[in-house]
Amino acid sequence: MSQPDIPFPQSPVLPTMLAETHEIEFSCHKGISCWNACCSNIDISLTPYDVLRMKTRLGMRSTEFLKEYTVPYEFDKDSIAGIKFRPVEGGTSCRFMKPEGCGIYEDRPTACRYYPVALLSMRRQDEYVDRDSYAIVKEDHCKGHEVKRPITIAGYRKEQGLEEYDELARGWRQLVLKKKSSGPTIGKPSLRSRQLFFMACYDIDRFREFVFADSFAKLFELKPEERESFAKDDVALLQFAFRFLRQVLFGEESITLNAEAAQERLVKVQEKRLIEEREAAKKRALEAEQDTGADEGFD
Ligand code: SF4
Ligand code: SF4
Repeated sequence: MSQPDIPFPQSPVLPTMLAETHEIEFSCHKGISCWNACCSNIDISLTPYDVLRMKTRLGMRSTEFLKEYTVPYEFDKDSIAGIKFRPVEGGTSCRFMKPEGCGIYEDRPTACRYYPVALLSMRRQDEYVDRDSYAIVKEDHCKGHEVKRPITIAGYRKEQGLEEYDELARGWRQLVLKKKSSGPTIGKPSLRSRQLFFMACYDIDRFREFVFADSFAKLFELKPEERESFAKDDVALLQFAFRFLRQVLFGEESITLNAEAAQERLVKVQEKRLIEEREAAKKRALEAEQDTGADEGFD
């Protein structure tokens, strides 16, 4: 089995993998002695759906939200990027932390909802689908573990509104897992692929402009009802972004190519193959010539 992926690194994560039926004892409530301690020292990775919820709440374009509130990081060296919350200037606290609690509570990100549970997504090498299991994060400052309120992880996920959050970020998690499990043999993604991944996953407003640009229409065929829904529905557009990336990064075609563009692309592929074959033939001829020269030298 591949190593578990921890999209929301929290420390320390107890290494036992737990099922949804596992029961925890935990409660976080106003008045607890550690109130806001977890929001004072943050290391919070965000999903594309987190960005969408927060930028909508703040009435910002995704591009501005990313600049103002996040910092990018790479999942692996020279690989696709994730994003994290940018803490307050010169400090470690979350910028949404208020004395009375979270300033964006109804739209708080996935990692904040999960805490003190951590989601572990993983995929067996012989399986296409990823499977989720969970771990518990136990930090000394968090007194919520001392409150004897039993709840299953499934119940906790429901209570925290995580079913919707996980469902709408599933396509992104699958892309990240697939990229990681494809390993170094597939090669590092090109700069262009990494930029596309970043824009489509996190910068939804710029991705919309990209989808409605003439260059996109030249390549891909969208149904009128799809265009209409992508114009006004961020969630629908985000799910399309994951489909688009599966096609661009992994060749899983689900978006119809424009017939003319498909033909052009075929011609280009054939031309490229021809050039490669010619280059290879030249190289072979040169090597043969050098071999002959070397043999002659020994006579
Ligand atoms: S978003 Fe809210 S819950 Fe999450 S770290 Fe910031 S203040 Fe805390
Ligand atoms: S109980 Fe834990 S999660 Fe709640 S405020 Fe305290 S440290 Fe944060």
